[in-house]
Amino acid sequence: MSSTQYATPSMPDAQGHFGPFGGRYVPETLVHPLQQLENEYWRAQQDPEFQQELDYYLREFVGRPTPLYYAERLTRELGGAKIYLKREDLLHTGAHKINNAMGQVLLARRMGKTRIIAETGAGQHGVATATVAAMFGMQCVIYMGAVDCKRQELNVYRMKMLGAEVFAVKAGQQTLKEAVNEAMRDWVTHVRSTHYILGTAYGAHPYPVMVRNFHRIIGDEARRQILEQEKRLPDMLIACVGGGSNAIGLFYPFLNDPSVSMLGIEAGGEGILPEKHAARFQGGSLGVLQGTRSYILQDEFGQIQLTHSVSAGLDYAAVGPEHAWLRDEKRVNYDYATDTEALDGFMRLSRLEGIIPALESAHAVAGVIKVAPTLAKDALIIVNLSGRGDKDVMHAAQQIGLKLPD
Ligand SMILES: *Cc1c(COP(=O)(O)O)cnc(C)c1O
Repeated sequence: MSSTQYATPSMPDAQGHFGPFGGRYVPETLVHPLQQLENEYWRAQQDPEFQQELDYYLREFVGRPTPLYYAERLTRELGGAKIYLKREDLLHTGAHKINNAMGQVLLARRMGKTRIIAETGAGQHGVATATVAAMFGMQCVIYMGAVDCKRQELNVYRMKMLGAEVFAVKAGQQTLKEAVNEAMRDWVTHVRSTHYILGTAYGAHPYPVMVRNFHRIIGDEARRQILEQEKRLPDMLIACVGGGSNAIGLFYPFLNDPSVSMLGIEAGGEGILPEKHAARFQGGSLGVLQGTRSYILQDEFGQIQLTHSVSAGLDYAAVGPEHAWLRDEKRVNYDYATDTEALDGFMRLSRLEGIIPALESAHAVAGVIKVAPTLAKDALIIVNLSGRGDKDVMHAAQQIGLKLPD
Protein backbone atom coordinates (compact mmCIF):
# COMPACT_ATOMS: atom_id res chain seq x y z
CA MET A 1 0.00 0.00 0.00
CA SER A 2 1.30 3.44 -0.90
CA SER A 3 2.48 5.53 2.03
CA THR A 4 1.73 8.77 0.24
CA GLN A 5 -1.94 8.12 -0.49
CA TYR A 6 -3.71 10.65 1.71
CA ALA A 7 -7.31 11.54 2.27
CA THR A 8 -9.03 13.59 -0.39
CA PRO A 9 -8.68 17.33 0.25
CA SER A 10 -12.23 17.90 -1.05
CA MET A 11 -13.70 18.31 2.44
CA PRO A 12 -14.85 20.81 3.45
CA ASP A 13 -16.41 22.46 0.38
CA ALA A 14 -15.56 26.07 -0.52
CA GLN A 15 -17.95 27.42 2.13
CA GLY A 16 -16.53 25.20 4.85
CA HIS A 17 -19.28 22.57 4.89
CA PHE A 18 -18.61 18.99 5.86
CA GLY A 19 -21.84 17.59 4.41
CA PRO A 20 -24.62 19.26 6.44
CA PHE A 21 -22.17 20.42 9.13
CA GLY A 22 -19.73 23.30 9.46
CA GLY A 23 -20.12 26.59 7.59
CA ARG A 24 -19.82 30.13 8.88
CA TYR A 25 -22.52 31.43 11.24
CA VAL A 26 -21.15 34.74 12.47
CA PRO A 27 -22.18 38.38 12.79
CA GLU A 28 -21.66 40.52 9.71
CA THR A 29 -18.58 42.19 11.21
CA LEU A 30 -16.69 38.89 11.26
CA VAL A 31 -17.42 37.80 7.71
CA HIS A 32 -14.66 39.91 6.17
CA PRO A 33 -11.95 39.03 8.74
CA LEU A 34 -12.73 35.32 8.30
CA GLN A 35 -12.56 35.69 4.53
CA GLN A 36 -9.20 37.45 4.82
CA LEU A 37 -7.90 34.78 7.17
CA GLU A 38 -9.05 32.07 4.80
CA ASN A 39 -7.37 33.67 1.78
CA GLU A 40 -4.11 34.19 3.65
CA TYR A 41 -4.20 30.66 5.02
CA TRP A 42 -4.57 29.06 1.58
CA ARG A 43 -1.74 31.25 0.26
CA ALA A 44 0.51 30.27 3.16
CA GLN A 45 -0.32 26.61 2.72
CA GLN A 46 0.93 26.76 -0.89
CA ASP A 47 4.03 28.74 0.05
CA PRO A 48 7.16 26.57 0.49
CA GLU A 49 8.78 29.29 2.55
CA PHE A 50 5.93 29.25 5.08
CA GLN A 51 6.04 25.46 5.24
CA GLN A 52 9.82 25.47 5.77
CA GLU A 53 9.50 27.98 8.56
CA LEU A 54 6.74 25.95 10.22
CA ASP A 55 8.78 22.73 9.87
CA TYR A 56 11.77 24.47 11.42
CA TYR A 57 9.93 25.64 14.55
CA LEU A 58 8.04 22.37 14.93
CA ARG A 59 11.35 20.52 14.92
CA GLU A 60 13.60 22.89 16.87
CA PHE A 61 11.17 24.41 19.37
CA VAL A 62 8.08 22.22 19.64
CA GLY A 63 9.94 18.89 19.59
CA ARG A 64 8.70 17.05 16.52
CA PRO A 65 8.64 14.32 15.43
CA THR A 66 7.20 12.60 18.52
CA PRO A 67 7.91 8.89 19.01
CA LEU A 68 5.45 6.13 18.16
CA TYR A 69 6.07 3.97 21.20
CA TYR A 70 5.23 0.28 21.58
CA ALA A 71 3.42 -0.08 24.93
CA GLU A 72 4.66 -3.56 25.76
CA ARG A 73 3.35 -4.02 29.29
CA LEU A 74 -0.07 -2.53 28.55
CA THR A 75 -0.32 -4.81 25.52
CA ARG A 76 0.59 -7.88 27.60
CA GLU A 77 -1.78 -6.93 30.41
CA LEU A 78 -4.75 -6.52 28.06
CA GLY A 79 -3.88 -9.70 26.17
CA GLY A 80 -5.13 -8.64 22.73
CA ALA A 81 -4.01 -6.23 20.02
CA LYS A 82 -0.52 -4.73 19.93
CA ILE A 83 -0.71 -1.16 21.25
CA TYR A 84 1.35 1.81 20.12
CA LEU A 85 1.23 5.26 21.72
CA LYS A 86 1.69 8.42 19.66
CA ARG A 87 3.60 10.54 22.17
CA GLU A 88 2.17 14.06 21.76
CA ASP A 89 2.57 14.33 25.54
CA LEU A 90 6.30 14.87 24.93
CA LEU A 91 5.80 18.13 23.05
CA HIS A 92 6.84 21.47 24.54
CA THR A 93 4.09 22.77 26.89
CA GLY A 94 2.79 19.22 27.33
CA ALA A 95 0.12 18.61 24.71
CA HIS A 96 -0.67 18.54 21.00
CA LYS A 97 -2.18 22.05 21.12
CA ILE A 98 1.09 23.79 20.27
CA ASN A 99 1.09 22.27 16.74
CA ASN A 100 -1.85 24.53 15.94
CA ALA A 101 -0.73 27.51 18.03
CA MET A 102 2.62 27.54 16.21
CA GLY A 103 0.98 27.33 12.78
CA GLN A 104 -1.44 30.13 13.55
CA VAL A 105 1.11 32.50 15.11
CA LEU A 106 3.26 32.22 11.98
CA LEU A 107 0.18 32.98 9.92
CA ALA A 108 -0.61 35.99 12.13
CA ARG A 109 2.93 37.29 11.68
CA ARG A 110 2.63 36.90 7.95
CA MET A 111 -0.60 38.92 8.06
CA GLY A 112 1.18 41.71 9.93
CA LYS A 113 -0.81 41.23 13.16
CA THR A 114 0.89 42.28 16.39
CA ARG A 115 -1.64 41.11 18.96
CA ILE A 116 -2.79 37.56 19.70
CA ILE A 117 -5.93 36.52 21.56
CA ALA A 118 -7.26 33.08 22.48
CA GLU A 119 -9.87 31.32 24.59
CA THR A 120 -8.92 28.56 26.96
CA GLY A 121 -10.75 26.02 29.14
CA ALA A 122 -8.27 24.01 31.17
CA GLY A 123 -5.56 26.46 30.19
CA GLN A 124 -3.55 24.17 27.90
CA HIS A 125 -4.41 26.13 24.78
CA GLY A 126 -3.84 29.39 26.67
CA VAL A 127 -0.37 28.22 27.68
CA ALA A 128 0.49 27.07 24.13
CA THR A 129 -0.70 30.42 22.75
CA ALA A 130 1.10 32.51 25.40
CA THR A 131 4.23 30.51 24.61
CA VAL A 132 4.27 31.18 20.88
CA ALA A 133 3.28 34.83 21.44
CA ALA A 134 6.27 35.24 23.79
CA MET A 135 8.55 33.62 21.22
CA PHE A 136 7.61 36.14 18.57
CA GLY A 137 7.29 39.15 20.87
CA MET A 138 3.58 39.63 20.34
CA GLN A 139 1.08 41.08 22.77
CA CYS A 140 -1.18 38.32 24.11
CA VAL A 141 -4.57 38.28 25.83
CA ILE A 142 -6.16 35.02 26.99
CA TYR A 143 -9.86 34.73 27.86
CA MET A 144 -10.65 32.14 30.49
CA GLY A 145 -13.81 31.51 32.52
CA ALA A 146 -13.48 32.69 36.13
CA VAL A 147 -14.41 29.20 37.39
CA ASP A 148 -11.72 27.64 35.17
CA CYS A 149 -9.15 30.17 36.44
CA LYS A 150 -9.72 28.86 39.95
CA ARG A 151 -9.68 25.20 38.89
CA GLN A 152 -6.52 25.58 36.81
CA GLU A 153 -4.42 28.01 38.81
CA LEU A 154 -1.12 26.53 37.66
CA ASN A 155 -1.87 27.28 34.01
CA VAL A 156 -3.01 30.84 34.86
CA TYR A 157 0.37 31.48 36.48
CA ARG A 158 2.19 29.90 33.56
CA MET A 159 0.42 32.23 31.10
CA LYS A 160 1.22 35.26 33.24
CA MET A 161 4.87 34.25 33.48
CA LEU A 162 4.96 34.03 29.72
CA GLY A 163 3.82 37.65 29.56
CA ALA A 164 0.16 37.14 28.64
CA GLU A 165 -2.70 39.05 30.17
CA VAL A 166 -5.33 36.62 31.48
CA PHE A 167 -8.88 37.93 31.50
CA ALA A 168 -11.24 36.07 33.87
CA VAL A 169 -14.67 35.91 32.20
CA LYS A 170 -17.48 36.22 34.73
CA ALA A 171 -20.52 35.80 32.45
CA GLY A 172 -22.87 32.77 32.51
CA GLN A 173 -21.30 29.51 33.70
CA GLN A 174 -17.89 31.24 33.73
CA THR A 175 -16.26 28.44 31.73
CA LEU A 176 -15.10 27.77 28.17
CA LYS A 177 -18.23 28.74 26.24
CA GLU A 178 -18.26 32.22 27.77
CA ALA A 179 -14.52 32.58 27.17
CA VAL A 180 -15.09 31.92 23.44
CA ASN A 181 -17.84 34.57 23.32
CA GLU A 182 -15.54 37.09 24.93
CA ALA A 183 -12.67 36.29 22.56
CA MET A 184 -14.99 36.75 19.56
CA ARG A 185 -16.13 40.10 20.95
CA ASP A 186 -12.50 41.21 21.33
CA TRP A 187 -11.69 40.07 17.80
CA VAL A 188 -14.54 42.06 16.26
CA THR A 189 -13.31 45.18 18.06
CA HIS A 190 -9.56 44.85 17.35
CA VAL A 191 -9.44 42.89 14.13
CA ARG A 192 -6.94 45.18 12.38
CA SER A 193 -4.14 44.42 14.83
CA THR A 194 -5.34 41.11 16.23
CA HIS A 195 -5.39 37.46 15.27
CA TYR A 196 -7.63 35.05 17.17
CA ILE A 197 -5.90 31.66 17.67
CA LEU A 198 -8.85 29.33 18.13
CA GLY A 199 -7.78 26.19 19.97
CA THR A 200 -9.62 23.26 18.41
CA ALA A 201 -11.10 21.99 15.14
CA TYR A 202 -14.23 24.00 15.74
CA GLY A 203 -15.80 27.39 14.97
CA ALA A 204 -16.52 29.26 11.74
CA HIS A 205 -14.79 28.36 8.48
CA PRO A 206 -11.77 28.30 7.96
CA TYR A 207 -10.93 27.32 11.56
CA PRO A 208 -12.00 23.64 11.47
CA VAL A 209 -10.06 22.86 8.29
CA MET A 210 -7.08 25.05 9.21
CA VAL A 211 -6.71 23.58 12.71
CA ARG A 212 -7.07 20.06 11.30
CA ASN A 213 -4.35 20.72 8.76
CA PHE A 214 -1.96 22.05 11.42
CA HIS A 215 -2.53 18.83 13.40
CA ARG A 216 -2.44 16.30 10.56
CA ILE A 217 1.30 16.05 11.17
CA ILE A 218 0.34 13.69 14.02
CA GLY A 219 -1.21 11.23 11.58
CA ASP A 220 1.38 11.82 8.86
CA GLU A 221 4.18 10.92 11.28
CA ALA A 222 2.30 7.98 12.81
CA ARG A 223 1.68 6.56 9.36
CA ARG A 224 5.34 6.75 8.39
CA GLN A 225 6.41 5.35 11.75
CA ILE A 226 4.07 2.36 11.81
CA LEU A 227 5.05 1.48 8.22
CA GLU A 228 8.70 1.56 9.30
CA GLN A 229 8.17 -0.45 12.48
CA GLU A 230 5.49 -2.93 11.42
CA LYS A 231 5.68 -2.74 7.60
CA ARG A 232 1.93 -2.28 7.46
CA LEU A 233 -0.92 0.07 8.35
CA PRO A 234 -2.60 -0.12 11.76
CA ASP A 235 -6.00 -1.79 12.16
CA MET A 236 -7.36 0.84 14.50
CA LEU A 237 -6.76 4.40 15.68
CA ILE A 238 -8.08 5.68 19.02
CA ALA A 239 -8.19 9.27 20.28
CA CYS A 240 -10.17 11.34 22.76
CA VAL A 241 -12.56 13.94 21.33
CA GLY A 242 -13.18 17.33 22.90
CA GLY A 243 -13.52 19.85 20.09
CA GLY A 244 -11.80 17.16 18.08
CA SER A 245 -8.39 18.48 17.07
CA ASN A 246 -6.05 15.76 18.31
CA ALA A 247 -8.38 13.06 16.98
CA ILE A 248 -8.80 14.55 13.51
CA GLY A 249 -5.04 15.21 13.39
CA LEU A 250 -4.38 11.49 13.83
CA PHE A 251 -7.32 10.23 11.74
CA TYR A 252 -7.16 12.47 8.70
CA PRO A 253 -4.18 10.95 6.87
CA PHE A 254 -5.77 7.48 7.18
CA LEU A 255 -9.33 8.35 6.09
CA ASN A 256 -8.83 6.84 2.64
CA ASP A 257 -7.56 3.54 4.00
CA PRO A 258 -10.64 1.35 4.43
CA SER A 259 -8.72 -1.25 6.46
CA VAL A 260 -8.04 1.30 9.21
CA SER A 261 -10.95 1.64 11.64
CA MET A 262 -11.17 4.65 13.92
CA LEU A 263 -12.61 5.23 17.34
CA GLY A 264 -13.20 8.61 18.98
CA ILE A 265 -13.81 8.68 22.73
CA GLU A 266 -15.96 11.41 24.26
CA ALA A 267 -16.35 12.33 27.91
CA GLY A 268 -19.05 10.17 29.50
CA GLY A 269 -18.72 12.00 32.83
CA GLU A 270 -20.96 10.45 35.47
CA GLY A 271 -23.03 8.65 32.84
CA ILE A 272 -25.33 9.60 29.97
CA LEU A 273 -27.86 11.72 31.88
CA PRO A 274 -28.63 15.40 31.14
CA GLU A 275 -25.87 17.73 32.43
CA LYS A 276 -23.71 14.83 33.67
CA HIS A 277 -21.52 14.29 30.59
CA ALA A 278 -20.07 15.88 27.45
CA ALA A 279 -20.72 13.08 24.93
CA ARG A 280 -22.33 15.01 22.09
CA PHE A 281 -22.98 11.87 20.06
CA GLN A 282 -25.02 10.44 22.95
CA GLY A 283 -28.03 12.69 23.37
CA GLY A 284 -26.77 15.64 21.32
CA SER A 285 -28.67 17.05 18.35
CA LEU A 286 -28.06 19.25 15.31
CA GLY A 287 -27.64 22.93 16.09
CA VAL A 288 -25.51 26.04 15.65
CA LEU A 289 -23.08 27.19 18.31
CA GLN A 290 -20.20 29.65 18.10
CA GLY A 291 -19.95 29.89 14.36
CA THR A 292 -20.62 26.39 13.12
CA ARG A 293 -23.32 23.73 12.74
CA SER A 294 -22.72 20.44 14.48
CA TYR A 295 -23.92 18.06 17.19
CA ILE A 296 -24.66 20.01 20.33
CA LEU A 297 -25.91 19.21 23.81
CA GLN A 298 -29.00 21.41 24.03
CA ASP A 299 -32.47 21.27 25.52
CA GLU A 300 -35.70 21.26 23.48
CA PHE A 301 -35.61 25.07 23.26
CA GLY A 302 -32.05 25.15 21.88
CA GLN A 303 -30.57 26.30 25.18
CA ILE A 304 -27.08 24.91 25.64
CA GLN A 305 -27.01 22.28 28.37
CA LEU A 306 -24.57 22.11 31.23
CA THR A 307 -21.84 19.55 30.74
CA HIS A 308 -19.58 17.63 33.08
CA SER A 309 -16.30 15.77 32.77
CA VAL A 310 -13.43 15.00 35.11
CA SER A 311 -11.24 16.42 32.32
CA ALA A 312 -11.73 20.12 31.58
CA GLY A 313 -10.35 19.74 28.03
CA LEU A 314 -13.25 17.49 26.97
CA ASP A 315 -15.93 19.44 28.80
CA TYR A 316 -17.65 21.31 25.93
CA ALA A 317 -21.23 21.16 24.63
CA ALA A 318 -20.35 20.88 20.91
CA VAL A 319 -18.08 18.77 18.73
CA GLY A 320 -16.12 19.78 15.61
CA PRO A 321 -18.17 19.61 12.38
CA GLU A 322 -15.83 17.19 10.60
CA HIS A 323 -16.39 14.63 13.35
CA ALA A 324 -20.17 15.07 13.01
CA TRP A 325 -19.79 14.34 9.32
CA LEU A 326 -17.43 11.37 9.76
CA ARG A 327 -19.86 9.91 12.25
CA ASP A 328 -22.86 10.33 9.93
CA GLU A 329 -20.78 8.80 7.10
CA LYS A 330 -20.00 5.89 9.46
CA ARG A 331 -16.29 6.36 8.73
CA VAL A 332 -15.43 6.85 12.40
CA ASN A 333 -17.08 5.23 15.44
CA TYR A 334 -17.62 7.19 18.60
CA ASP A 335 -17.92 5.83 22.11
CA TYR A 336 -17.46 7.39 25.52
CA ALA A 337 -15.53 6.75 28.72
CA THR A 338 -16.89 7.74 32.12
CA ASP A 339 -14.87 9.68 34.70
CA THR A 340 -14.25 6.43 36.58
CA GLU A 341 -13.02 4.63 33.47
CA ALA A 342 -10.76 7.56 32.58
CA LEU A 343 -9.24 7.60 36.08
CA ASP A 344 -8.64 3.86 35.77
CA GLY A 345 -6.89 4.48 32.42
CA PHE A 346 -4.87 7.28 34.03
CA MET A 347 -3.61 4.98 36.81
CA ARG A 348 -3.01 1.94 34.62
CA LEU A 349 -0.91 3.80 32.07
CA SER A 350 1.08 5.40 34.88
CA ARG A 351 1.78 2.06 36.61
CA LEU A 352 2.26 -0.11 33.54
CA GLU A 353 4.17 2.20 31.23
CA GLY A 354 5.67 4.92 33.42
CA ILE A 355 3.65 7.54 31.54
CA ILE A 356 1.21 9.80 33.42
CA PRO A 357 -1.31 10.86 30.76
CA ALA A 358 -3.51 13.97 30.71
CA LEU A 359 -7.01 13.14 31.96
CA GLU A 360 -8.25 13.90 28.43
CA SER A 361 -5.86 11.35 26.92
CA ALA A 362 -6.81 8.90 29.69
CA HIS A 363 -10.21 8.67 27.96
CA ALA A 364 -8.44 7.28 24.88
CA VAL A 365 -6.56 4.88 27.15
CA ALA A 366 -9.91 3.79 28.63
CA GLY A 367 -11.04 3.16 25.04
CA VAL A 368 -8.10 0.89 24.28
CA ILE A 369 -8.57 -0.95 27.59
CA LYS A 370 -12.07 -1.85 26.40
CA VAL A 371 -11.23 -2.66 22.78
CA ALA A 372 -7.76 -4.27 22.73
CA PRO A 373 -8.82 -7.53 24.46
CA THR A 374 -11.50 -8.09 21.79
CA LEU A 375 -8.94 -8.03 18.95
CA ALA A 376 -6.45 -10.66 17.78
CA LYS A 377 -2.84 -10.50 18.99
CA ASP A 378 -1.59 -9.56 15.53
CA ALA A 379 -3.92 -6.55 15.29
CA LEU A 380 -2.27 -3.10 15.61
CA ILE A 381 -3.76 -0.15 17.48
CA ILE A 382 -2.40 3.39 17.65
CA VAL A 383 -3.60 5.47 20.62
CA ASN A 384 -3.07 9.21 20.50
CA LEU A 385 -1.57 10.30 23.80
CA SER A 386 -2.60 13.91 23.34
CA GLY A 387 -0.98 15.30 26.50
CA ARG A 388 0.84 14.65 29.74
CA GLY A 389 -0.77 14.53 33.15
CA ASP A 390 1.30 17.00 35.20
CA LYS A 391 -1.59 19.46 35.25
CA ASP A 392 -3.95 16.75 36.54
CA VAL A 393 -1.84 15.19 39.26
CA MET A 394 -3.41 17.05 42.22
CA HIS A 395 -6.91 16.50 40.93
CA ALA A 396 -6.37 12.79 40.29
CA ALA A 397 -4.64 12.33 43.66
CA GLN A 398 -7.73 13.74 45.40
CA GLN A 399 -10.10 11.59 43.35
CA ILE A 400 -8.10 8.45 44.08
CA GLY A 401 -7.49 9.40 47.72
CA LEU A 402 -3.67 9.47 47.68
CA LYS A 403 -2.17 10.88 50.88
CA LEU A 404 1.16 12.47 51.75
CA PRO A 405 3.41 10.26 53.93
CA ASP A 406 3.09 10.98 57.68
C1 LIG B 1 -7.43 20.32 24.89
C2 LIG B 1 -7.04 18.91 25.00
C3 LIG B 1 -7.82 17.88 24.42
C4 LIG B 1 -9.14 18.12 23.76
O1 LIG B 1 -9.11 18.90 22.63
P1 LIG B 1 -9.24 18.30 21.17
O2 LIG B 1 -9.36 19.50 20.33
O3 LIG B 1 -10.44 17.41 21.13
O4 LIG B 1 -8.00 17.52 20.90
C5 LIG B 1 -7.34 16.58 24.50
N1 LIG B 1 -6.19 16.29 25.13
C6 LIG B 1 -5.43 17.24 25.69
C7 LIG B 1 -4.17 16.84 26.37
C8 LIG B 1 -5.82 18.58 25.66
O5 LIG B 1 -5.06 19.51 26.24
